[in-house]
Amino acid sequence: MVHSNSQPGKSACCRLCLQPRTLLKSHIIPKGLLRIAKGEHSQLITMGINDSSMPRMDNVNWREELLCEECERHINLSYETSQINKLKGAKDKVPSDKRITITNLDFNRFYLFWLSIIWRASESSLDEFSVVNFPDELSNVLRKAILEGHAKYRGHDLDEFFQIGICRWYFDGTDSKSFLTTFKLISDERCISYIFMVAGFAVVYQLSPEVSRVLPKGFSLIKKSYVFRMNKIFPGESPVVDEFVEDARTSALRDPGFAIDKILAGT
Ligand SMILES: [Zn+2]
Repeated sequence: MVHSNSQPGKSACCRLCLQPRTLLKSHIIPKGLLRIAKGEHSQLITMGINDSSMPRMDNVNWREELLCEECERHINLSYETSQINKLKGAKDKVPSDKRITITNLDFNRFYLFWLSIIWRASESSLDEFSVVNFPDELSNVLRKAILEGHAKYRGHDLDEFFQIGICRWYFDGTDSKSFLTTFKLISDERCISYIFMVAGFAVVYQLSPEVSRVLPKGFSLIKKSYVFRMNKIFPGESPVVDEFVEDARTSALRDPGFAIDKILAGT
């Protein structure tokens, strides 16, 4: 995919509405999620998934000129503000031992909120998101869905073949909110999946020609319902999550200065 290199202050083509506009520096991972992640810490642990990139303490600033002001506002108002409040607000949540239940959910907004993150990652030319690079046709399908607020493609529901799953994961009894990763690609011959973690959530995006293919163990599928029951995952309960965390541990051990345990304990 060819990305335009816009200069600050100059107009370029907005990635969402495709109009020539002055572009703002858009967050690839929504600021609201990063705020949850930051909590009392001013920094996060970011983890590059490639062997060559080390995890590092980083003032995360994954921003890029992608969207015009109007489209930035559209994404904020249509998806981010309400859905992040839904995730962090206690009002509609009924916690239990095994899962967190979110009620009064607008499936369309919730689905498109998560979809907009991987779409931005795909549009981004930042190195941190280079693993996500959708073909133009798929990018355009996602773009239209986000712009128009309908998760449809040629009469089909987008979530039939582009499934999104989430879980709230915990790290050896310590909270995992300050743990942030970029995307990792896990694929086999029948399926392409991307996974990332932010604000204590592990998110999987699964692209498959099979309708309703089962998600990796531990993830709760976002489906058409007013109620979302999100699994709580502890170490040993999801091989995919465990492996992902192990990647980070292995990387962190290469340089103890970046020890994750220490940071998560807040010391
Ligand atoms: Zn725009």
